[in-house]
Amino acid sequence: MATELNCAKCGACAVVCPVFRVDEQEVLTARGKMHLLTTELAEYPSAVFEDRFSRCLLCGACEQVCPRHLPITDLISQARSTFSRFYGPNGLKKAAACAALRRPELVEGLVKAGISLQRLQALPLHSGLRLKLGLLEKRSIPQPPLAQPPLGKEDESRPQQNISTASLSYFTGCVARHIQPTIVQATQSLLQNSGLPSAHTPADQYCCGLAAWSAGKRDQARELARKNIQAFSGSEGLIVTSCASCSSHLLAYPTLFNEDDPWHDKALSFAERVQEFTHFFNDKLPPLSRIENSEHPEQRVFYHDPCHLRFKDKGMSTPRLLLQKRGVQIIEPEDGPRCCGQGGLFHIACPEHSLQIFEQSSRQALAGSPAYITTTCSGCLMQFKEGMARQGQGVEVVHLAVLLADAAVVRRS
Ligand code: SF4
Ligand code: SF4
Repeated sequence: MATELNCAKCGACAVVCPVFRVDEQEVLTARGKMHLLTTELAEYPSAVFEDRFSRCLLCGACEQVCPRHLPITDLISQARSTFSRFYGPNGLKKAAACAALRRPELVEGLVKAGISLQRLQALPLHSGLRLKLGLLEKRSIPQPPLAQPPLGKEDESRPQQNISTASLSYFTGCVARHIQPTIVQATQSLLQNSGLPSAHTPADQYCCGLAAWSAGKRDQARELARKNIQAFSGSEGLIVTSCASCSSHLLAYPTLFNEDDPWHDKALSFAERVQEFTHFFNDKLPPLSRIENSEHPEQRVFYHDPCHLRFKDKGMSTPRLLLQKRGVQIIEPEDGPRCCGQGGLFHIACPEHSLQIFEQSSRQALAGSPAYITTTCSGCLMQFKEGMARQGQGVEVVHLAVLLADAAVVRRS
């Protein structure tokens, strides 16, 4: 049965939609999709219908401006859950990515194979795979501690959900764990610099499940959520995560389960413990002198706002406050923040749109000639790293934790 929706057809969503900005088809806006959901076409979605619904980043920009407060991203994800197994363009690639994220050992194997291939240097200079392999870091970083952490001092300056920082845990996210392990090392180093104990990093944690949820694979997303809740059940303190997208999805775990599902309450308790990286460090990391004589000597920094932090967690100020503590010059875009076009599986499903959206975003980022582009979302980080390499730009792209930790190391030495 077609969905009854209270869309005012005002078009406010079209103005802010990154996909519509590069491809002005009404059907690609939230208004267009909401209309489709009210038609009989939604009952037996065709390949074309599925294709239209795959062309959405689930960035949430439209929800912010919707006067009817429609839960647009949830409605789109819900619609995708009714689609055929490999829906939309590049369905097989998306299915493969989802399958890999479900199994950490598979990701580990792929990373090892990728690093070997990288060493062979056998791929053409500008091949997409070569650029992607360039994102892999050699596994020289020691794995995070698996034992329970030692007790450390309490943070007395902020109640923080009344949850202790004496026993911290760390949800790394797939990119930090498998592709860019320096993010893990940097986060632990910032904890140390803030006088906090190193964080317990459960070895049996999984992908947060955002990719599966966005693709409409709701059972798979719930399975991953249950595994993560279980993995962190051995401790009670805060769970810090250095990925903005992971944090928004971990915080949304309670919405994955019906209230009469026994996992709903467990998800609530779990979510209460989750804290996004910049919110966590904002009142803990001591101010440092300017980033000087370090591996990151320049001070012009472009901070890219991840959509999940901009719209879901309202976290635009804390990353900037942390950067200000370091005395860097933050370059702000004249026309406000933009989506980078990665969108989880969106860059796999819709590579042309993803590239076009990135071109706009990268022009904006480069306009102020930054020495560094930094962000806290793993997906955005990968998009910028790959995109800047493809464009042959010299600007360095680093996770905010790495940039801040480098400054911290300088101050201590
Ligand atoms: S979630 Fe983002 S990409 Fe999707 S329709 Fe809304 S604004 Fe457009
Ligand atoms: S902003 Fe909301 S009410 Fe207005 S057209 Fe878009 S979905 Fe409909």
